[in-house]
Amino acid sequence: MEQIYENTYAIREVGCAGEVNMYLVVGKKRAALIDCGYGGIDLPAMIRTVTKLPVTVICTHGHIDHAFGSWMFEDVYLHPLDMEVYKEHGNRQMQENSWARTDMRMLKFYKLSKEEFAAQRERALSHEPGAVKALEDGQCFDLGGRTLRVVHMPGHTAGSVLVEDVEHKVLFSGDDLNGQVWMCLKESVPLAEYKKQLLRIRQFAENEGVEIHYPGHGRKADDCVKRIDKLVKCTDKAMARKNHGKMADRGFTKGYVARCGFTSILYKI
Ligand SMILES: [Zn+2]
Ligand SMILES: [Zn+2]
Repeated sequence: MEQIYENTYAIREVGCAGEVNMYLVVGKKRAALIDCGYGGIDLPAMIRTVTKLPVTVICTHGHIDHAFGSWMFEDVYLHPLDMEVYKEHGNRQMQENSWARTDMRMLKFYKLSKEEFAAQRERALSHEPGAVKALEDGQCFDLGGRTLRVVHMPGHTAGSVLVEDVEHKVLFSGDDLNGQVWMCLKESVPLAEYKKQLLRIRQFAENEGVEIHYPGHGRKADDCVKRIDKLVKCTDKAMARKNHGKMADRGFTKGYVARCGFTSILYKI
C-alpha cells in the first residue's frame, strides 16, 4: 500500500489479468475502497493498518480484476448494467480458466514466488463473489469531510463508472481512460457511443477543474483532458479506417489497435 496524496492510498494486486490498482480514500467518518481486486489479498487486514473506520466499496465495473474482493466486505456497490458481466466473471469455471492462464513470466515480472502466487490464487478461488448494491449516476458518498461522486461512463463496459474525489478534484477512472482502453469486449459499448462519453467527460473534467486521474491499470496521469483528447483521436481513427490491419492478441481478448502516441484503444468491428 502506497500513500498517493492526503489520506488516500493505492493498493496493487497481481492476478490473472496482470497488475490492477485499487484506491483507498479515508474520510473522518468512513473510508471508501475504489475497486477490490481479484480477491487474492486480505484487504480488510491491509486497510486496518491505516484506518479502523467502516469501509464502503465502490466497484468501477464488474470485471474479475476489479470486483472480486467483494466477498470480504458488507457494503459493496456496482452499477446495475454490469451485474451480468459480474455474474459471468464470477462463474467458477471462468475464474479457474483465468487463473490457469497465468504463466511463469508473470511471476518473474511481478517478483512473486510460486508459493505466494498459489496462495493468492487459492484465496480468490475459495470464495463466491459477494452481494452488491446498485450504484447510480451522480450518487455521492459522504465520508466525513470528503465526498466521492459517481459518474456513469459507458465505455469499456456498459456499467463502468468514474469516481470523483470532489474536494481534491481527482478522478479515479477504472478501465475507461487507461493508457490502452479495451473496447473490444462484448460488454463494451460501440465506438460512437464511447466517443460521445469521452467528450462528455472532457467537459465534466474542464468544468470541475480535474487534471489528475488514477486509472485501473498503469500509473497516475497528470493531464486528464489531454488523455481524453488522445482517446478521442484513437476512436476517430478506428471509425474512419477501411483497413483495420492485424488483430492484436491480449490472451483474454483480441482486437484491432488504434494509436495516438502512447495512448491506444483495442477495438473490434
Ligand atoms: Zn475491465
Ligand atoms: Zn481491468
